[in-house]
Amino acid sequence: MLANQLWERTCERLKKIFSAEVYRLWIARIKVLDFESNNLSLGVWDEFAQLWFKENYVSALEDALREITGESITVQVQVVSFEDHSEPSAEQESVPPKEDPAQNTDNQQNSAPAIPPTVYTPRAAAEVQNVLNPKYTFESFVVGTNSNMAHAAAMGVAQNPGKSYNPLFIYGGVGLGKTHLLHAIGNRVIDNAERAGKQVRVVYVTLEKFLNEYIEAVREQRCERFRRKYRRVDVLLIDDVQFLTGREGLQEEFFHTFNELYNSNKQIVLTSDRPLSEIKKLEERLVSRFSWGLVTDIQPPNVDLRMAILKQKAKDMHFQVPEEVCTFLAQKIRANVRELEGALIRMGSYINLTQASWSIETAKVALQELLSRQVAQAPNIEDIQKKVAMTYDIRVSDIISKKRPANIAFPRQVAMYLSRELTHQPLIAIGEAFGGRDHGTVIHACKVVENQMDVDDNVRDTIQKLKNELEF
Ligand code: ADP
Ligand code: MG
Repeated sequence: MLANQLWERTCERLKKIFSAEVYRLWIARIKVLDFESNNLSLGVWDEFAQLWFKENYVSALEDALREITGESITVQVQVVSFEDHSEPSAEQESVPPKEDPAQNTDNQQNSAPAIPPTVYTPRAAAEVQNVLNPKYTFESFVVGTNSNMAHAAAMGVAQNPGKSYNPLFIYGGVGLGKTHLLHAIGNRVIDNAERAGKQVRVVYVTLEKFLNEYIEAVREQRCERFRRKYRRVDVLLIDDVQFLTGREGLQEEFFHTFNELYNSNKQIVLTSDRPLSEIKKLEERLVSRFSWGLVTDIQPPNVDLRMAILKQKAKDMHFQVPEEVCTFLAQKIRANVRELEGALIRMGSYINLTQASWSIETAKVALQELLSRQVAQAPNIEDIQKKVAMTYDIRVSDIISKKRPANIAFPRQVAMYLSRELTHQPLIAIGEAFGGRDHGTVIHACKVVENQMDVDDNVRDTIQKLKNELEF
């Protein structure tokens, strides 16, 4: 069968499996590259899409391919150029565009339906408001498995503002690099525009400031000016939207501003220190708007990444930090990157003042208070499920599902085993988190895994590696 034929038939199946939205955003945009030796190569538009695909859709795709051909066909996904946003293919056209007002704006161009267009008009020079920090760039951001999705999505947005993921919603605990990524997007967008001799308006603002500005505008009867200001923006970066809690009266206004921008295809990127579901009293319609595009998270860095970050920061600050001191700090300071950075700065100034040397002894003295605040952090079950899914190249939803093929059942058992070993959660809670299984199933899973570790070195190594990576 030819690649195109095979893909067409697969798409027909996938249309039935996935929602119209998922189909339109993900499947319809794929390019078929090649079909050879039972291997189907597909092209996607950026690294985020590649990762996302691998994690969420490849196994469903392979299932569909097996049903169609009766053979087992592997799917490979690679990043290819999507420069030509020209005519959508026949397949793409056959998918009805999303029924929302955003798709019906005046400047709707003839691009693929999943990609809302952005119109760049050449203007004089880049304009930045609320100043971006030039140090917060993609280059200075150290990427690890904790943040690769968020990082890739941010890069995607920066390369094609308004076209790929809109809005992009990034959440994660404090000090994990959300603000850094927001600025990195802004900096990259401006660099690109400058290089192309175009002008672009980027606004970075914390939600708090945005709302206060609005209140002031209302008070001084300058609402129209306020709206105009934000309507002129090409890329709006809003930091810390969790502050919508407690500002319930203002959600209405925020909702309208958001809609206005979205409807004129402005790129919006939002961050929050918690997932949408945990932003208290957030109106349902805002939750739904925020999830229209892409929601992705940043997890705390593991010890290896903390090492890498420390080395990078030490280099940036021109500190000669011996390996053992880096190791010591990376092991002791676990909460977030801001604290790691803070520790280096504090130690650096202490050494500067006292002429002490970069040693573990000095660290203990200079960082006494910081070190005493560190509490052991255990990974949670969700972390474990994600990590295991990634390692075994399956979906988290498979781990939680009732499916029982061996390629899913064993990783699921591994995830249960690791949850028992690492989380201090009761067996009942572990069973619950795995699609409502009972505690007997968890005990059985642990036995199976322990037995396998005894007889199979590969299994033992994989699990040991997982454990190391999961333990902060
Ligand atoms: P958040 O907004 O999530 O609270 P920030 O973006 O303010 O966190 O990050 C806190 C500090 O840590 C910043 O100085 C930032 O540059 C640094 N930082 C965070 N994550 C990384 C990373 N992955 N690589 C390099 N620096 C980082
Ligand atoms: Mg921040």
